[in-house]
Amino acid sequence: MPLEVRLPDLVRLGIVDAFEAEHEAPKQIARRLEKAGLIEHFNFKREVFTVARRASGDCHFLDAKTRRCTVYEQRPEICRKHPQAMSPRPHHCPYGAKRQAGSAGHDR
Ligand code: SF4
Repeated sequence: MPLEVRLPDLVRLGIVDAFEAEHEAPKQIARRLEKAGLIEHFNFKREVFTVARRASGDCHFLDAKTRRCTVYEQRPEICRKHPQAMSPRPHHCPYGAKRQAGSAGHDR
């Protein structure tokens, strides 16, 4: 399952600046981010951006070696709300466990 984020997440991640978020149409922002290879899809209706994944299928922000989130303090809302995010393991991605065969949810 790919990582879906909203505009405030992108601002917190430093991918979109606050001025741009306030003054530019999300569709325009999405076009720019798509060209830059930072997102792979924009759902216009839900205003949800799908963050581009690595070739491995991992989240763009996951360190391949340590399996830690490289943007932990600024991570998107959806990552904060993941049930495993409640565990006291700072910097660990709740989706970052090695993928298991047939598992659709750990490829971020
Ligand atoms: S917590 Fe995981 S899915 Fe969320 S941004 Fe970090 S590496 Fe990506």
